[in-house]
Amino acid sequence: MHVDLSNRVAIVTGASSGIGRGIALGLAGAGAQVVVADLDDSSPSDAERTTVEAITDGGGTAVFVACDVADDDSVAALVEATVERFGGLDILVNNAGISHAGTIEETTPEEWHRVLDVNLTGVYHGVRHAMSHLKESEAPRIINVASQLAFVAQPEKPAYLASKGGVVSLTRSLAVDYADVPVLVNAVCPGVVSTELTKEALADPERRAAFEQQTLLPYLGEPEDIGAMATFLASDHARFVTGQSFIVDGGYTAQ
Ligand code: NAD
Repeated sequence: MHVDLSNRVAIVTGASSGIGRGIALGLAGAGAQVVVADLDDSSPSDAERTTVEAITDGGGTAVFVACDVADDDSVAALVEATVERFGGLDILVNNAGISHAGTIEETTPEEWHRVLDVNLTGVYHGVRHAMSHLKESEAPRIINVASQLAFVAQPEKPAYLASKGGVVSLTRSLAVDYADVPVLVNAVCPGVVSTELTKEALADPERRAAFEQQTLLPYLGEPEDIGAMATFLASDHARFVTGQSFIVDGGYTAQ
């Protein structure tokens, strides 16, 4: 299957690192012009090159725009900068996310709100500002990054699980409301993927072993595994797919 995203413009939030970086590289590899949106352009991981450098060194087109998805004005400026630079917007990937561990009694209102503000309200901000431009596209796509934890629980992550359940519901809601354009809206729900977010847990041999045991396939996920699904959903091959949440988890939720 040949995926051609040339002449498409994509925003990927949280693309300096991890899964967002994997998605940005996937879309750029298929020819899309990519806006890497993040708090900072330096990857917190050990990557030698920023996401923009990795794309442009490979002959692709990418720019960095600083953005806090929890801030409505910041997201408005991101969309404006994208349209100004590339003349439009075809693909919005709402990927930026944070986690928080602790029972609900241990979670302060500030921690609760920050997780919801980034993971769920950030999607609202992105869609709110991007929609008028997406409607002008010939093949508009919204891809939200939720989590397998929208479907199964892990202990002591109430804010994170609530936010990701919200993203799955919001995905359906948007698909229904914009099907007549049509803007296709789907979510990708990763399982355990090796990134900054999971670094601490995966460094703990006991927790790593538990994740490996629960994952059906004999390996954990890499950012490019999620990038491949997102690239398919962004492509013309996915023209009959909307309102769905695709779990990409090596079989974690199958048992
Ligand atoms: P990561 O920490 O490697 O990357 C997250 C990126 O988002 C970082 O570059 C960070 O700077 C950016 N970010 C954080 N807050 C932001 C904000 N307010 N505005 C803009 N950018 C912001 O984590 P990751 O594992 O790549 O996570 C990416 C997405 O995938 C998240 O939504 C996460 O919940 C989801 N996810 C990850 C896993 C996993 O196992 N890694 C599993 C399921 C879902």
